[in-house]
Amino acid sequence: MQSIRQIYKIGPGPSSSHTFGPMMAAKYMLEQYPQAMQFDVSLFGSLALTGKGHLTDKIIEKTFHPIPCTIHFDIKKEVDHPNTMIITAYGKQEVIGQHTFVSIGGGKIEIDGKKNADEPDIYTLTTMDAIQAYCHQHHIRLDQYIDQVEGLEFDKYMHKIFSQMLKTVNTGLKRTGVLPGSLKIERIAHALYQSAHSCDDPQDTNSLLLASYAYAANEQNASGGIVVTAPTMGSCGVLPSLVYHFYHDLKYPKQTILQGLKVAGLIGNLVQTNATISGAKAGCQAEVGAACAMGAAFVASCQFQTNEQIECAAEIGLEHHLGLTCDPVGGYVMIPCIERNAVAAQRSIDAARLAKYLRNVKKNRVSLDMVIQTMNLTGKKLPIELKESALGGLAVVVPDKQ
Ligand code: SF4
Repeated sequence: MQSIRQIYKIGPGPSSSHTFGPMMAAKYMLEQYPQAMQFDVSLFGSLALTGKGHLTDKIIEKTFHPIPCTIHFDIKKEVDHPNTMIITAYGKQEVIGQHTFVSIGGGKIEIDGKKNADEPDIYTLTTMDAIQAYCHQHHIRLDQYIDQVEGLEFDKYMHKIFSQMLKTVNTGLKRTGVLPGSLKIERIAHALYQSAHSCDDPQDTNSLLLASYAYAANEQNASGGIVVTAPTMGSCGVLPSLVYHFYHDLKYPKQTILQGLKVAGLIGNLVQTNATISGAKAGCQAEVGAACAMGAAFVASCQFQTNEQIECAAEIGLEHHLGLTCDPVGGYVMIPCIERNAVAAQRSIDAARLAKYLRNVKKNRVSLDMVIQTMNLTGKKLPIELKESALGGLAVVVPDKQ
C-alpha cells in the first residue's frame, strides 16, 4: 500500500480522475517526448462520456499548450477500465511515441498497464484487521502507526494539505456568481455562511456552517479551482469542511486535527487499495462514501476515541453509502455532487457519535474490511449508466439546461 500522500493531492478541479489524472498523463508525455510537435488524444469510456462536463479536454489542452493537440471522444470502443486514454506524440509527421493511460481515481494513473514507479508501496499491512492487530500488540494509536510508516517528512506534507484545505474553503466562502457550464448553478456557500450566523438554534448554526464549508470547497472544485483530493475531487468538500469547522469554530488544536487527517488518510488508502475510489468504477459510494468514512474517522480521532471506535465510525460512514450511484447531471461535478458532500460531512459527525457509544453496548459484526469488500462487489454490479457516464439516474431526469 502506498503513502497517504497519494490520497491527499493538491490540484485543479473538478475531477481527480477526469482532470487531475489526464493532466498527469499529459505531463508524462511532455517529459518523455520533449521534441514532440503535436499530440493526439483519444478518450474512452467515462472519460469520453463525461469528459466535456468534467473539463477533461480543457486541462489536456492547457497542459500541452503551446503544442497543439487533437482530442477524440470515442464513446463506442469497449475498454477494460472506464477511464482509459491513449496519447500519441508526433514529430513533424511521424509517430514518436504512444502510451495507454488509465486514470484510476484520486489523480493516480497507470501507464501501459503498470503502476507509476514513482509511487512505491510503503505499507506492508494492507487491511484494517492487520493494522488493528499490530497497534494492539504495540499499544499504539492509529496515527502513531502512520507516523512510524510514513517517517518524519510526512508532517511537513500534512501541514501543506491542512493549509490548502483551509485556503480552498476560505476562497470558496468569498466567491459569489454562477458556476461555469450550461447548468447555470449559483454559488451559495457565502449565502449559507451568512444564514448560519442568523440562526437562533446553536445546533442549526453549526450544521449550516459545516454545510457552507463543504459547498465552498465543492464550488471551488466545480469551477476548476485548486482543491485537495480527499480522496477524490468530486468528494473534496467533506474533509475540508470538517477540518475548517473543527479548527475555526470548535477550536480543536492544529496537532489534533493533523492526527485526524492522517487517520482519515489511512481509511482512504485502505479503500483505494482493497476496492476503488473511482466513481467510474464503483459509483459515488467509492467517492463520497469513502470521503464520509474518512470524515467519520477524522472526527473520532479528533475526539480521541479508541482505535476500535475509529474503525467503527469509518465503517458506519461507508456502510450507509453502499450502492450510492454516480449520475452527474450534464456530466458536471455539481448535481448531485456539491450538496452530497455537505450531507456526507454531517453524516461523518453522526457516524463518529454513534460509534462512540455503540461500541460500549455491542461488538460490531461488520468490520471496515468487510464493508470495503462489499463496496467493491456492489460497484461491480452497478450498471454502467450509474457509474460516471451521465447516462442514468439524475442525469437523465434533471434537465441539464436552464
Ligand atoms: S456523483 Fe459522486 S462520484 Fe459522481 S461525479 Fe459526483 S461526486 Fe463524483
